[in-house]
Amino acid sequence: MGFRVLTGLFAHETNTFSQLNTTLENYRDFVLAFGDDVPDAIAGSMLEPNGVIQVAEEADWDLVHTVAGWATPSGPVEREVWDVGAGAIFEAAQTQGPFDGIVLALHGAMTTVDHADAEGVLLQELRDIVGPDIPIAITLDLHANVTRLMARHANIICAFRTYPHTDQVATAARASRILDRTMKGEVVPRVHLARRNMLVGLDHGRTTVDNPMTQLLARAEALEGKDPGVLTVSLHAGFTPADFPEVGPSVAVTGDGPAARYRTIAEAYMHFAWEQRHFDSNEYLGAAEAMGRLSTLVDGAGPVVIADASDNPGAGAYGDSTFLLKAMLDAGLEQAAFGMICDPETAVQLTKAGVGADVSVRMGGKVDPAFGQPLELSGQVAAVTDGTYVAQGPRWRGVIQRLGPTAVLRVGGVDIVVASKRIQCTELETFTHAGIDPSQKAVVAVKSMHHFRAAFAPIARHILIVDSGALATKDYNRLPYKNLRRPIFPLDIN
Ligand SMILES: [Zn+2]
Repeated sequence: MGFRVLTGLFAHETNTFSQLNTTLENYRDFVLAFGDDVPDAIAGSMLEPNGVIQVAEEADWDLVHTVAGWATPSGPVEREVWDVGAGAIFEAAQTQGPFDGIVLALHGAMTTVDHADAEGVLLQELRDIVGPDIPIAITLDLHANVTRLMARHANIICAFRTYPHTDQVATAARASRILDRTMKGEVVPRVHLARRNMLVGLDHGRTTVDNPMTQLLARAEALEGKDPGVLTVSLHAGFTPADFPEVGPSVAVTGDGPAARYRTIAEAYMHFAWEQRHFDSNEYLGAAEAMGRLSTLVDGAGPVVIADASDNPGAGAYGDSTFLLKAMLDAGLEQAAFGMICDPETAVQLTKAGVGADVSVRMGGKVDPAFGQPLELSGQVAAVTDGTYVAQGPRWRGVIQRLGPTAVLRVGGVDIVVASKRIQCTELETFTHAGIDPSQKAVVAVKSMHHFRAAFAPIARHILIVDSGALATKDYNRLPYKNLRRPIFPLDIN
């Protein structure tokens, strides 16, 4: 047996403006496993530990699993979650060593009730336990807010290179291979971080179009291919609704050798990101504006997919905003589907009424009616499910999604999926498991910013992006930031 390596997945993307703290139950709803139970819990899925396991088998590592935890984005992570998640990593580091190396899958935008820069604190505490000489590799989401503390205590940083994110396993394998070279003494990696006073940039990290993100990724890959000292270049678009000083896009170069060289590379890439800061490939429509746009689109096969980026639970929004749904109902759409409204009270009412029942409900707008008042609706229950299915799309393939008690309410020509739990609608199975075939609809609405494209772009006739003004709005002036470094683009600097 070769190197002994500590590993874990402990991730969250925290919207600090959300009133809903992130609980242990939120993790259990997605994935939460400990120690030797981790490999079975994530087997066959898109989750990062599978990439670590792959390299561990190739390199004959003795792998020590600690935790695999991931939850839908929401408000600050509760102390109990930190205690069991970070706690599992610290305890193994203290009691199951000595280790030759550590590879952790983090998000890079976790805020807990106690720590604004939770991953920085996690790495610092871990470093205090294992000492300065054990190499630590971390993988990050492409939407990480990389802090100085994270860059100081990690020797290797590798973020995803796709948005929609479909390369979690490949990213973890890349980080693990660099860690293996480090443990063999072939390289001595250090992380060099560059940022600018930007809240947002790199076209939100989208990799589906020609934009500053894909241009920098191409440069990074070419550089890695020709410069053996550049072990990896990690590009981060940042996670905007996080009210703390180190929010925003960044570039982290993991280099072997003189710091000045790699700092120069990181600064050059970040300079490009700054120069291109105004680039945004999306046109954001208001909800009513999107309804008007529908009539101008040519007919054809497949639905028009309307994505409400502002009520995207994948960015920590509540998923119960009624602005877009109301606009669709007011427009009298036919052959439409809506995925989805998170409203546990209504979901239970509908599941109790049963398929075929005619019901009146008060739907949505319950967490914060500022994002749309509850709608008084009458319709027929078209389906009732337990809300559990295995995702098949490129984003979450192999991961079990749990919406809790779920029903479809048909109101006029709109089939509304009403779920008990918040989740970003990225999978066709959110509809098909409830008897709705989205490919046969004229209009399909999803609460998602960009991840939906992985599964829905192939069936879509056309895509419209809506900012209806809910919590994850792109109108950043509406968010009550208090703790940013200032001045910052786009709030103070154009
Ligand atoms: Zn992301």
